[in-house]
Amino acid sequence: MTHEHVPGMDLDNGVRIPQLGYGVFQIPPESTQEAVEGALEAGYRHIDTAAAYQNEAAVGAAVAASGIAREDLFITTKLRNGDQGRARAAFEESRAALGLDRVDLYLIHWPVPSQGLFLQAWRDLEQIYSDGLARAIGVSNFLPEHLDELIHAAAVPPVVNQIELHPTFQQRALADASRRHGMAVEAYSPLGQSEDLENSAVIEISLRHGATPAQVVLAWQLASGNIAIPKTATPARMRENLASVSVELTPRDMEQINELDAGRRLGADPATASFSQY
Ligand code: NDP
Repeated sequence: MTHEHVPGMDLDNGVRIPQLGYGVFQIPPESTQEAVEGALEAGYRHIDTAAAYQNEAAVGAAVAASGIAREDLFITTKLRNGDQGRARAAFEESRAALGLDRVDLYLIHWPVPSQGLFLQAWRDLEQIYSDGLARAIGVSNFLPEHLDELIHAAAVPPVVNQIELHPTFQQRALADASRRHGMAVEAYSPLGQSEDLENSAVIEISLRHGATPAQVVLAWQLASGNIAIPKTATPARMRENLASVSVELTPRDMEQINELDAGRRLGADPATASFSQY
């Protein structure tokens, strides 16, 4: 499986994003360069990091060491909650840590409504976009009420909402609202932090296809039109997850997985999450 097999998706501003990427949350900074080098070697061309993950420099080092042409890579990073009042300066720190002239996608990591700063931060992101330093800008963890407020005020509309989304937590209303606003839905914790791989329906479908549970869940993500950014520190699983692009689920398989939604959130609730280290 090579990067050429990974489908691309056009964001609303015309920028193309590989639909399957590699997430580096919770990979310790000292292991991240090796992990990302492994992911690039396996065929990933889309890497998802964040200032809060404290591994942007290691991502940048892996990118530099890879020798892969910059235009063939798609690098996302995110604005930390505690930096919403100084988004431009924080962006410059991320860009320097990554060692990139520009990033492909820059996201507000969480809305933190209690802070009341995301509109101010968005104005900085709009400027970063107009200055050509981010090819696309978007948000993460925004609920419909945050999207409404943002879209109402935005001069440049966000093109991505990165949200927790997996078979047991499908967030259909939020995904639909995001798409209605012209945003692509990017699924984080796309495997349900591996817990959804234990689901008996997922296992049954995987046996029928001669695939693994992770491949079935990722194939469901892609066929649902989501961008997915699974994390694994295990090289064999990097290849396994990438090979999900060749798994074709039937309409009945899709329906069976659609029925698994249990409203089971694993991460923080964006309505109240306010951790400043993020
Ligand atoms: P995932 O759903 O990607 O699950 C990761 C877990 O699944 C790890 O324990 C990994 O283990 C395991 N795993 C991966 N592949 C396989 C496989 N083929 N078979 C069995 N187990 C597997 O959850 P994450 O929460 O890590 O989310 C992925 C990415 O999403 C993050 O890295 C980050 O980029 C993004 N994210 C964004 C957030 C936001 O607020 N915007 C919040 C959370 C995540 P191992 O590593 O040991 O192989």
